[in-house]
Amino acid sequence: MPLPATPGAPSPDRPPSPLKWLYLDFNSYFASVEQQLQPHLRGRPVVVVPVMTDRTCAIAASYEAKAYGVKTGTPIWEARKLCPDIVCVLARHDTYVRFHERAIEEINRHIPVSAVCSIDEMAVSLMRNESEQGTAEAIARTIKAGLKANLGPWLRCSIGVAPNRYLAKVACDLEKPDGLTVLMPDEIEPRLCGELALDDLPGIGRNMKRRLNLRGIHTIADVMALDRRQMRVAWGNIWGERMWYLLRGYDLPELETQRRSIGHSHVMAPEMRPPARAIDVARRLVLKAAARMRRLNYTASRFSFSARTESGQRFHREVRCRQTRDSLVFLDMLLVIWRDFFAVDGVGGSRVRIKKISVVLYGLVPVGPAQPDLFDRDAGVLLGDTRGLRLSQAMDRLNHRFGRDTVLVGLMPSSGKQFSGTKIAFTRIPDMSEFRE
Ligand SMILES: [Mg+2]
Repeated sequence: MPLPATPGAPSPDRPPSPLKWLYLDFNSYFASVEQQLQPHLRGRPVVVVPVMTDRTCAIAASYEAKAYGVKTGTPIWEARKLCPDIVCVLARHDTYVRFHERAIEEINRHIPVSAVCSIDEMAVSLMRNESEQGTAEAIARTIKAGLKANLGPWLRCSIGVAPNRYLAKVACDLEKPDGLTVLMPDEIEPRLCGELALDDLPGIGRNMKRRLNLRGIHTIADVMALDRRQMRVAWGNIWGERMWYLLRGYDLPELETQRRSIGHSHVMAPEMRPPARAIDVARRLVLKAAARMRRLNYTASRFSFSARTESGQRFHREVRCRQTRDSLVFLDMLLVIWRDFFAVDGVGGSRVRIKKISVVLYGLVPVGPAQPDLFDRDAGVLLGDTRGLRLSQAMDRLNHRFGRDTVLVGLMPSSGKQFSGTKIAFTRIPDMSEFRE
């Protein structure tokens, strides 16, 4: 006769706990950092903005602001209508990255962080002896206490524990702020269907929601009713089938995340929109992308440029080159494309008003020792030795030493605003060094 199991203790007779991941998501992260650092902001409706103008949008809102219906993406003029007492705070991305690094350090003191998913989200893979519900909850509570003691009580987070990383992230959304939610397999379907909307699921953005709606899928319950084949058809790609497994608690390996592109885009201030001025912004974006590529130790072989005008006209071109790290190669390609599009006799002409510019470097290959790609076979020279690359690297060194924009090829935009300053995408955390590129 088997011995009665001690409650909570792992036993060889019991199957391992289905809980495999712990996910941590800071609540109103940028706004909370500001409230932590500036006591007069605590308890007040605060939005963080990229520039001080009512035409911009909030990039973060404190919980007090959210109570008025103000959220990330709300235009400031609208936020002022919803909440006349709203306080706008200028974003300090380098500060947010510093807190991000301190947060990882603190979590690592309790349990090793497996993946940094964004500036305010981290995932931890639970080992077998950490995966019992009570143990996982205790770990979550010590992390929360550590963050409170060492980063500050205004930085709160929600923690989710679930059978896979995807569901652990979803579990964070079930209780905010300061939540702790464990999602056992039999709770997945009722809680997701009962508490979340279709587009609360990560991976279902505006476009995917529209696509699913067109197919008669409006709720999470509708999604759960589909089989694997129907999921693949509904999504139109392998993510559909992947989602089928994830929503049922299968712990799939993460898809390969090798970097495939490096890009920057910028929405132009109104005075920068004539092509004669916009070219300076485009040049700056190219130099920034190339500097980042060199720092990450890649070469690229494709350059893509796109622009959108105020009237909605789109211009796009992709050009190939040899595998290179040389900024000047990409600048040359930019100038050729620019002439074709925006010269007096160009496709778009010189009178368009350019609203947005994006540049992307593709065909990335990591630079390794003795890598054949380092040779420019056409010219028969070692790529690492071209004058353009030497110039590019010298620029990187000066910019790192003396600050961003110390050395640029071409003119600086005269508006003097931080037009291509490092911004934080929610899926990409800039390294500290990027603030000087
Ligand atoms: Mg968050």
